[in-house]
Amino acid sequence: MSLSEVFDPGVLALPLYDDAHRTLADGIVTWCGDRAEAWAGLDTTDPAATGRAVLADLGRSGWLSHLDPDRPDSDLRSLCLRRQALAYHEDLADFAYSIQELTAAAIARHGTEEQRRRHLPGLAAGTSAGALAVSEPGAGSDLAAAVLEATPDGDGFVLNGTKAWIAQGDIADVCVVLARTGDGPGPLGLTTFVVDCSAPGFKAEPVGAIAPRSWAELTFTDFRVGPEAVLGERGQGLVVSLDALERARATVAAAAIGFGRRAFRLALGHARTRRAYGGRLADLQLVKASLARMDVKLSAASLLTARAAWAMDAGLDYARHSSAAKLYGTEAAGEIVDGAVQIFGAAGIVAGSTMERLYRQVRSLRIYEGASEVIEMTIADAL
Ligand SMILES: Cc1cc2nc3c(=O)[nH]c(=O)nc-3n(C[C@H](O)[C@H](O)[C@H](O)COP(=O)(O)OP(=O)(O)OC[C@H]3O[C@@H](n4cnc5c(N)ncnc54)[C@H](O)[C@@H]3O)c2cc1C
Repeated sequence: MSLSEVFDPGVLALPLYDDAHRTLADGIVTWCGDRAEAWAGLDTTDPAATGRAVLADLGRSGWLSHLDPDRPDSDLRSLCLRRQALAYHEDLADFAYSIQELTAAAIARHGTEEQRRRHLPGLAAGTSAGALAVSEPGAGSDLAAAVLEATPDGDGFVLNGTKAWIAQGDIADVCVVLARTGDGPGPLGLTTFVVDCSAPGFKAEPVGAIAPRSWAELTFTDFRVGPEAVLGERGQGLVVSLDALERARATVAAAAIGFGRRAFRLALGHARTRRAYGGRLADLQLVKASLARMDVKLSAASLLTARAAWAMDAGLDYARHSSAAKLYGTEAAGEIVDGAVQIFGAAGIVAGSTMERLYRQVRSLRIYEGASEVIEMTIADAL
């Protein structure tokens, strides 16, 4: 796989990126190319074990090293480039990378020095798996409605309740949990904790998904934590959680571009070789129009994502930009993959084929880290 298949060279050449980004993009594409054979044989029937193995490989290979407090940090543009390349090549690699990143970001940005030293080196090495558990069966988009209870007990707390839809939940060693401590009304009564999943009272029940990934419902039963588990300030749990999620939004857009670009490249190749009516599919005007629309959507998504990541790296207000990138990128990826399946015809829905897997993999991006409708509200409110 060449760099120009995975990334748009015209976008990478823009002054929104510098040479270090271009070198990084080249490096991760080469690394993914080296993994292609191994990834083609991944056992997706056991996403937990496979997820752990992929995570360990990412850690060993140094792609998570910036999460270590003693190593140089990474800017958001680099995170986006890594996610685009990983998603282009292998969903499970992007998934492991992104969840590790999300968990570590909450700890790095809001944790004490002791919490950072305790949890981040393992997350950076890929030897410890992270999870960020905020959603509940009764509170998804409306996170302020979270009810998992953290009852004061001596100088610590006892957690009781359920978290739903938690990525890496069934393999997590460390988990950031949003809980109700009742310090204030509604959203001000929430606090985040960083907890050790091997402690008594933690149970993870795997949930099967449209695209196999390590995903679980978590139950906390009389789960005791000390005061050192509080992440950030008491009563500021919603702020801590939303900060991690909002920062990650542009990276979701980048992953969407990776999935979309893979589907587009495959559809283009297929249209150019598939014989029809004495010519090629690529000669048919409606097929050409479909490919052209895909190309424009990918360009627009890439530019929105680059702008959002650049704004964050420049210390500018980025929330509206990353929301726009996430909204547009994930919706566009859905349309591109759907259009690519159409160009493949029946061959596009063969179970286990790359097109069919992309079709399943791309769907959840429009729901997690802010459903499209929620993002539209956010953008409108910022106008
Ligand atoms: C693959 C995947 C991985 C996930 N990983 C995690 C994880 O690691 N940790 C975690 O805590 N959670 C995770 N989630 C949960 C995710 O954050 C929630 O699914 C998401 O916030 C939506 O919540 P919900 O599913 O409860 O849907 P609901 O909140 O019930 O919303 C359902 C639908 O209602 C509509 N809607 C909601 N709010 C509005 C609004 N304000 N205006 C208009 N329409 C609206 C939207 O169409 C939305 O899709 C994951 C979800 C998926 C699909």
